[in-house]
Amino acid sequence: MVDAIEEILRGSSGMTAEQIETLADEAGVGLFTIDITTGKIAMNRIIANLTQYQLGELPESMETRDILTFEDDRERVHNAMESIFTADAQFYHVEYRMRRRDSSLVSVYECGMISERDEAGRPTSISVLALDLTRLKWAQDKARQMETENRRLAKSQTENSLAEQNRMLRAANSAAAMIIGGFHEEYEMVLRQALQMLAESVQADRAYIWRNRLVDGRLFSFRRVLWERGGSFGFTSETSIAYGGSELVPYDELLPDWEALIEPGFSIITNENNKEVLDKYGINMVAGVKGCMVQPIYLHGEFWGFVGFDDCTHADRVFTEDEADIMLSATFVIASSVARNETLKVVNDAREAAMASTKAKGDFLARMSHEIRTPMNAIIGMTTIAKRTRDPEKVRYCLDKVDVSSRQLLNIINDVLDMSKIDANKLEIVPAPFDFEQMIQDVISVVKVKLEEKNQHFQLAMTDIFTRKLISDELRLTQVLINLLNNAMKFTPEGGTITLKVDEIVSGNILHIEVADTGIGIDPENQDKLFHSFEQADGGITRQFGGTGLGLAICKRIVDLMGGNIWIDSVLGEGSNFIFEIPVSWDDKVLAPMNEHGVRMVEELPDAPDWREKTILLADDIDINREIVETILSESEVGIVFAENGEEAVEAFKKSPELFDLILMDIQMPKLDGLGAAKAIRALADEIPKAGDIPIIAMTANAFKEDVEQSLSSGMNGHIAKPVEIDELFAILTRYFEV
Ligand code: ADP
Repeated sequence: MVDAIEEILRGSSGMTAEQIETLADEAGVGLFTIDITTGKIAMNRIIANLTQYQLGELPESMETRDILTFEDDRERVHNAMESIFTADAQFYHVEYRMRRRDSSLVSVYECGMISERDEAGRPTSISVLALDLTRLKWAQDKARQMETENRRLAKSQTENSLAEQNRMLRAANSAAAMIIGGFHEEYEMVLRQALQMLAESVQADRAYIWRNRLVDGRLFSFRRVLWERGGSFGFTSETSIAYGGSELVPYDELLPDWEALIEPGFSIITNENNKEVLDKYGINMVAGVKGCMVQPIYLHGEFWGFVGFDDCTHADRVFTEDEADIMLSATFVIASSVARNETLKVVNDAREAAMASTKAKGDFLARMSHEIRTPMNAIIGMTTIAKRTRDPEKVRYCLDKVDVSSRQLLNIINDVLDMSKIDANKLEIVPAPFDFEQMIQDVISVVKVKLEEKNQHFQLAMTDIFTRKLISDELRLTQVLINLLNNAMKFTPEGGTITLKVDEIVSGNILHIEVADTGIGIDPENQDKLFHSFEQADGGITRQFGGTGLGLAICKRIVDLMGGNIWIDSVLGEGSNFIFEIPVSWDDKVLAPMNEHGVRMVEELPDAPDWREKTILLADDIDINREIVETILSESEVGIVFAENGEEAVEAFKKSPELFDLILMDIQMPKLDGLGAAKAIRALADEIPKAGDIPIIAMTANAFKEDVEQSLSSGMNGHIAKPVEIDELFAILTRYFEV
């Protein structure tokens, strides 16, 4: 029993002082936390209960240890504690007497260890767990007493009853020994066997231990262990049925007056005919039970639960006081063991969970850092080279590389954002009609560069010609496809083949898409895992190929949100096929046919619009952002007035409101942000009518729905996400200019 304490301490290494405290409280074990540098000492509620002091009543210094230690034991305790500073031992152990507030003594077993050290390895804190030995000693004394009693009886009583006494004692001892042994893997089985031994020794047909639990201040109990003889009495106890087997049963229904009726060390013994006892405790004898004995169990001074024995064989069975005494001692040991096991489980679970999540997070961060650094290095390196060279060819080459790496970086950032949206349940699908076939062509042209780099063959197997617009979320669908294609290319060696297969299952209005490769494949064990975030099939392989482990989790979420399914069909070493199906609907309008370059015939590249007559106000604090917009719009010859913050924007507008046709407004700016500036401009509407209706478009990297809503409620008309896409910018300006 006491070595459980050491196990708890050992298990707690690596936990914070606070966690150890919670643990000790839960286990009903006393805890002192000693800060060596300040000499400050803290104790928990259990020690306070045990010694009858209020928390905070004793000084928070080492003096408290002396107050609580019986004079004759002080030196021994002191030496024991000192030993961990000098000896190599990790723990110290000592048994001594504590002095209570009323001067009475209580035996405790104490085990301590250094729980924290500073950077130089010097101890800074000690955790000391203390266990009340009285109950354990009481149980042991009781067993010893019984043995003496037994010997005394041996002289005076008949052979028969002597044998019975012996049998009971032996059973109690073996049950205790069995359960006390250690941390059994087959703990539940051992527990039941121990209970069986006890039950059989008192000729009971059924035995059970119920465990109490406090939920929101209300005391409940649930059946923790049950043993029944050969199952022949089929424990269909009405109590059990009424309360749903091992579910929580509230005491205010089970035994409303329990506080008044029961106390430590006593037993309720009755048989089916003892109406007085039955009524007193409100016992509804279960059908078939002839006699029963129920005993409350107290651990660390608290009502822990109860143990019960039923006799279903002998009419008028009344359990004797002797039987009650021995059973109580033995079940006390079992209960202590259950409690200890619960504590160890808490420690182990907490430790395992902490370790697993730390590892997953650590791996993820390491991967992330690698993934971000790689394109970052390329961008910085290529920019440096470009700056130093005069050869325009080389500059162009560098710029191409910078372009690719920046897009890669943006993808990673988008993935992380998507993931955090998924976590917050904020990922949304926005369906709208779009040209599906065109989208497929666009996706192919995006991945083409990499395909060529890796010398991979690409096949498009599209059985249907999609002559109408698909109603779905184009952006998200593109994201899934590019993700799957990128993976296929990544995990397929040079010269391999990637196939994109698209079918419409017309009857079900289902779009069926497959991305197949002839790559490394995935073993069946890992296939399901891959759709969970941060998981990758094989750490080693991933290190070779890179990746964040978010892609497939995001794909799955998107497909789920679209009401579809995604799955893998793969053979290790031969290749993988990622398949997904989504329900779809199609727009009515029939599209013009596509030419061999994947372009709709009627669609001609539009000329840049002529906006010579128009002027926009562009507010953005970052030079490069202003430059990008200026360059994109240069062909249209639109006039642009720049502002570097919200205040300047408001001033510029106020100065010549008639000049402007539209305002592009960044959100995050110094002095006055975009939201504030938009509000300020709208507030001018009384003096300057145009302030009320000039279109203001937010331009921001914050592309969450809330951000869009916020800009709308600040009086803006629309929203463009950064990095600004040429088409989107032209589309939105066209919309406002051409009304
Ligand atoms: P990552 O960014 O790591 O590629 P994903 O979620 O896209 O993240 O993929 C998770 C893991 O699934 C990959 O690390 C890889 O182990 C496995 N995987 C994905 N696609 C394939 C494929 N086509 N062939 C083999 N393994 C794949």
